[in-house]
Amino acid sequence: MTSTTPDILVVGAGIAGLTTALALRRRGASVTVIDQSRPGTEASWAGGGILCPLYAWRYPDAVLALAARGMRDYPALIASLTGDIDPEHHVTGMRILDPVGPGESAALIGERLERFGIRHRWQEPRDGDQAPLCLPEVANIRNPRLLQALRQTAEANGIEIRANRRCERVAVQAGRFAGIDTSSGRMHAGQLVVAAGAWSEPLIPQARHESIFPVRGQMLRLVPRGERHLSTILMDDGVYLIPRVDGSVVVGSTVERAGFDKTVDMAAQDALQRKAVERCPELAGAVVTHRWAGLRPGSSDELPLLGEHPTVEGLWVNTGGYRNGLAMAPATAGLLTDLMTGRRPELDPAPYRVARMLSA
Ligand SMILES: Cc1cc2nc3c(=O)[nH]c(=O)nc-3n(C[C@H](O)[C@H](O)[C@H](O)COP(=O)(O)OP(=O)(O)OC[C@H]3O[C@@H](n4cnc5c(N)ncnc54)[C@H](O)[C@@H]3O)c2cc1C
Repeated sequence: MTSTTPDILVVGAGIAGLTTALALRRRGASVTVIDQSRPGTEASWAGGGILCPLYAWRYPDAVLALAARGMRDYPALIASLTGDIDPEHHVTGMRILDPVGPGESAALIGERLERFGIRHRWQEPRDGDQAPLCLPEVANIRNPRLLQALRQTAEANGIEIRANRRCERVAVQAGRFAGIDTSSGRMHAGQLVVAAGAWSEPLIPQARHESIFPVRGQMLRLVPRGERHLSTILMDDGVYLIPRVDGSVVVGSTVERAGFDKTVDMAAQDALQRKAVERCPELAGAVVTHRWAGLRPGSSDELPLLGEHPTVEGLWVNTGGYRNGLAMAPATAGLLTDLMTGRRPELDPAPYRVARMLSA
């Protein structure tokens, strides 16, 4: 099912755009998605795929509410995928070796996790170290595969996806969305969803400079020699180790403001690898098979932007996932789709409103 003028156009075929397109399609809308490059090859490809915020209790309620909801909704998202790609949703749990930061206590951490339904248990400390914290229900996902599976599912459900088509400008007439100018001409639709990740800001009329910006994260993938040892996600001193189903280990990540530059630098890479080996000595001698960087969509208050543009009817936004865009995706797509289809969302949309990022 394709039409030249779909009900809804989505700009950006990352996790935000594809999950939103699918949720809207399931409510009966015709949807076309465009992407300036190959779908699912930017931040959503680069991410670690941990389906829970790191040191979750340090995030504001508005992020935790979406992330906790996303964690619960992932099995249903996975079950809804069609096609032959297994995204390897892998419940490994997460073990955090340095949970209690300055001004924090085990009681405070436990209270916040419980409030959002994130199960936890404390483990015995060793040699004067902090007691590690275990979150047994945390999963990780092979996100590049998830994105391929989402694309297949979207197309099987009649969503048209056009790669290598860049949205240059959003046209507005009399306070209403009136189409987009793309690298291949004008496109029309009833409504628009801007889900262009770190590149979203110029597509949101009146967006303040630096309201949405890229935050580079560098990663590497190690293949251990010999037996597999790591069975759970390990987190310490800001560095995480993620065991994949095939026994490889993904290590991340830096948090850098470097514009739209996706190069990796060896000093940062070596530091990540060194920390990984310190935490997991079995990784000494592991082979580095990949090094990469991606651009997280950061927002100036570190909350996502979800909702309709306050002065442009028919223009909607789903971006600003920052470090948790994969974990939150089913919830952000669900919330935006509820708003677009006139259903009352379960979560309060107020903290995510677009107006807060616009110039007066
Ligand atoms: C190193 C790293 C580690 C991470 N780890 C995790 C993690 O473990 N767990 C987690 O939950 N999150 C993680 N994240 C964050 C997560 O990956 C992002 O928040 C999420 O992928 C953002 O998805 P998105 O769809 O908004 O953006 P993207 O995936 O970047 O997609 C945006 C898309 O829009 C397209 N686009 C942009 N501009 C235009 C235009 N003008 N016209 C047409 N198309 C356009 C782009 O080509 C791109 O495909 C990590 C991110 C990084 C970089």
